[in-house]
Amino acid sequence: FDQREGVIWFDGAFVPWADAKVHVLTHALHYASAVFEGERAYGGRIFKMREHNQRLIESARLLDFEIPYSVEEIDRACEETLARQGFVDAYVRPIAWRGSEMMGVAAQNNTIHLAIAVWQWPSYFDPAQRLKGIRLDMAQWRRPDPKTAPSKAKATGLYMICTMSKHAAERRGYADALMLDWRGQVAECTGANIFFVKDGKLHTPTPDCFLDGITRRTVIDLARKRGVDVVERAILPEELADFEQCFICGTAAEVTPVSEIAEHRFVVGDLTQALMNDYQAVVQPAEAAVAAA
Ligand code: PMP
Repeated sequence: FDQREGVIWFDGAFVPWADAKVHVLTHALHYASAVFEGERAYGGRIFKMREHNQRLIESARLLDFEIPYSVEEIDRACEETLARQGFVDAYVRPIAWRGSEMMGVAAQNNTIHLAIAVWQWPSYFDPAQRLKGIRLDMAQWRRPDPKTAPSKAKATGLYMICTMSKHAAERRGYADALMLDWRGQVAECTGANIFFVKDGKLHTPTPDCFLDGITRRTVIDLARKRGVDVVERAILPEELADFEQCFICGTAAEVTPVSEIAEHRFVVGDLTQALMNDYQAVVQPAEAAVAAA
């Protein structure tokens, strides 16, 4: 991945992809002092870019550091990187981290870096599997209590349990894993939020200890526009047997139907399909939507 063509925006300048390197004594590598975003461009426009870059700044503040760029500057840098890479449909990854001046837990004076990479990532899950619904395992790791970790931050350290859970799921032949939270309630997947359908209503866990995804909020708006009731509440794993449909959503995953969670089965029903289509329509820039009509 580090030997690709193109450029990466790195602390305000474009550097060749293969040269965008950090030192091994980077604080972030040792102590997880890094935050990032995942954004997607459709037809040359980055969907909800401002919200993502605002969240990047907030994530850094939660980790007690200030990114030395304004949200406007980060927006412009994302757009320029996308344009320099020459893609119209692409994934955009800004990452901010503490540098290497001081070693040790404290690092108040370390330089804060920001880099932005753009690549093509058409489908996070296998496209054929996506249409039939993906299969989820139950994760062995639980989302921590917000008193234990900065759960509102999109911080690299919070992904340690996600990578371990996703690896275990893939080893067992599943596409991803459903994580419970520290109380034993349904939380989210390793890189996406989760929704269920029952009697025409959407049910989704209250995001009180995991990321309140920008896609999640978009899906809630789209469902309400259709007149569908959306219930945000505590969901227990015992309830999985009662739901008819299930899907996960995130910037990379978009809206992806789920056919199985452990022993539970779901259909890819009308509401899931409608929301998949609504999401594809809303992410397209207005001109592209007009041209397609
Ligand atoms: N939860 C986790 C753990 C994620 O990594 C993501 C992807 N950023 C999401 C939820 C969905 O967030 P968003 O819709 O903002 O991409």
